Amino acid sequence: MIIHHLRNASAVVQIAEHRLLVDPMFSEPGSLPSFRFLARGGQRNPIVPLPATSEAALEGVSGVLITHEHPDHLDRPGLAWIRERGLPVWANGVDAASLRRKGLEVHELVDGALGMRIETIPSRHGRGLVGWLMGPVAGYYLAHPDEPSLYLVGDAVLTDAVLEAIDRLQPDVIVAPAGTASFGLGEILFSVDELVTLAQRAKGALLFNHLEAVDHCRTTRSQLRARMAAEGLTQRVHVPEDGEVLRFDERRTRTHAEPRVTATPRPGLQKWLTAKMAGT
Ligand SMILES: [Zn+2]
Repeated sequence: MIIHHLRNASAVVQIAEHRLLVDPMFSEPGSLPSFRFLARGGQRNPIVPLPATSEAALEGVSGVLITHEHPDHLDRPGLAWIRERGLPVWANGVDAASLRRKGLEVHELVDGALGMRIETIPSRHGRGLVGWLMGPVAGYYLAHPDEPSLYLVGDAVLTDAVLEAIDRLQPDVIVAPAGTASFGLGEILFSVDELVTLAQRAKGALLFNHLEAVDHCRTTRSQLRARMAAEGLTQRVHVPEDGEVLRFDERRTRTHAEPRVTATPRPGLQKWLTAKMAGT
């Protein structure tokens, strides 16, 4: 498995015959508003350009995976890019209908899709009311028989459901957001302490993204690397620069853990509200 990290949560993930573009935010720097809605010191987004390697990385993309429909995971240029190429999109039941209305060919990311065992792991994108307002989100366990297994945590804070999934599924690679994002009313992504817990609980490799690309993510790569070094976690924790390519070949078990059958999530009031706010 190869992960070409682009920017924020955008990446090209090569799993067996698939080259999946994850969460395309392709906007030019400064073309989106600040996400620090309730705090001072904001600046327009994204705060950095896409890396020079993006164009080459995007060649031969076979499909797109959207973890959740927020503007730092799917923006207008990302949407246009997918539409122009007519690429299939995989998303969960919460976002599928909304993405279809945007003219995309959407398949639900359910067990068996893409020739993989898949489990949707519900998560929380913040705590209390802020978490509720951020809408229903989830992570995805993706296990291809010929590749290391992958847990794309998606935007989340640390919850028992995330830790339970790690214990049970024992993913070889975990991709988790690390910017400690906040609008000014509490964190909506893992704190650095929570990332330490996550890394200590996991047995495999971790890749931390969602760093130094949007203005509400205040944790820097150097702060995060220093903390991981202090905790003795640098062997397994990767904090890539934009444009960096990481290869994961190691499988900890010969057969992957069986995913649990979960109910397909459906959009509700939360989704309607966040779609209004996101307005892609
Ligand atoms: Zn995000």
